[in-house]
Amino acid sequence: MEQFKQAARILRTLRENGFEAYFVGGSVRDYLLQRPIGDIDIATAALPEEVMRLFPKHVPVGLQHGTVVVLQEGIPYEVTTFRTEAGYEDFRRPSEVVFVRSLTEDLKRRDFTMNAIAMREDGTIVDPFCGRQALERRLIETVGQADERFQEDALRMMRGIRFVSTLDFTLCPRTETAIRTHRHLLQHIAVERMAVEFTKLLLGPAVSQALQLLVQTKLHEHLPLLEQKGEELLEAAGHNWAGIQTETEAWALIIWMAKADAEDVCRQWKLPNRRLKEILEVLRVLQQRLNQPLSAYLLYQAGEETAMMAERLLAAVKGTAPDAESIRRLYKQLPMHSRQDMQVTGRDILSWSDKPAGPWVADCLAAAEREIVSGSLVNEKERIKGWLKQCNLL
Ligand code: ATP
Ligand code: MG
Repeated sequence: MEQFKQAARILRTLRENGFEAYFVGGSVRDYLLQRPIGDIDIATAALPEEVMRLFPKHVPVGLQHGTVVVLQEGIPYEVTTFRTEAGYEDFRRPSEVVFVRSLTEDLKRRDFTMNAIAMREDGTIVDPFCGRQALERRLIETVGQADERFQEDALRMMRGIRFVSTLDFTLCPRTETAIRTHRHLLQHIAVERMAVEFTKLLLGPAVSQALQLLVQTKLHEHLPLLEQKGEELLEAAGHNWAGIQTETEAWALIIWMAKADAEDVCRQWKLPNRRLKEILEVLRVLQQRLNQPLSAYLLYQAGEETAMMAERLLAAVKGTAPDAESIRRLYKQLPMHSRQDMQVTGRDILSWSDKPAGPWVADCLAAAEREIVSGSLVNEKERIKGWLKQCNLL
């Protein structure tokens, strides 16, 4: 595969300098599954200082965890020193990492067997925990005892269920039972880390199964503002999420289904403000669309992208197919797409009247804008002036 070929140069350089080095993690898993691969991560026996010395183009992003980002032809690769993790405190990621020289030790600290497979640059595999077998069976199982692994880092429970969604795999029974047993430990996890996994979960192809699992294992009892929304989550699982494309839509749909307050959800999950703004906007359009067909004015106000997102949400809520084509056509046909397209400015309006400047000017603009967008007024200076006069607005 092309991406690995490029990255293989890094492995070769490390190896030529006497350090073992492998591709590891999600990219190896996805490659073996013949899925598109994401970021390529590399694990090596070289210490961070040695990696930095060998690759002048680097960014020391997480030296305390042994991670150096190596840049090659503009592509970033995370190169992490083989490590084990010691001193897990409060069921969170360890405060301390210990560098080791053995690949197996490094693979052992990884969450699931499918994520603990290493690959050399020639494509040969090192798989001490039988991750390939898990991939064949489409099973998510922890490396080692699930109970221990979830107590070390409770986020792994969330990750397990998000992989159910993104890979359409199943949890092996012991892993599932351990999630039910240790679900309360999720309260120790930083909400930002949970949000990353939950967002991926919502966008996965098997989101319905994952939502059901969240409720079955009662892990949802520890998700901010969804603690008491078991029934709503199950109802959400019954909807067709297949058309949902963006993070904003995914969050909007879950907020909608859970009958939760978007501002509260975004604040508690620490989602960025920009996301909250988009969610509010798309929910506003959805709310209107539930009662009426898409009007030209609503489409104009929302903009094409938001209207599209609301259309996909509407389809998910109603169980219909989204009609993107109609929206695209309607948007193209709008007489104007923004205030800038209007042939009249506030200055024009003031010059047509003896009245002093005031909020009435903005009202005039807004009234004419609405009329033009709805197709009842031609977007020409004289026509607009005439219409404003006729309405006694000047
Ligand atoms: P994706 O393709 O969605 O990015 P991924 O498996 O690459 O999935 P990452 O979060 O990018 O997930 O993590 C990279 C690798 O690091 C994982 O494959 C796994 O081996 C290891 N890992 C990540 N998070 C944990 C964790 N909480 N505990 C143990 N190992 C982890
Ligand atoms: Mg990854």
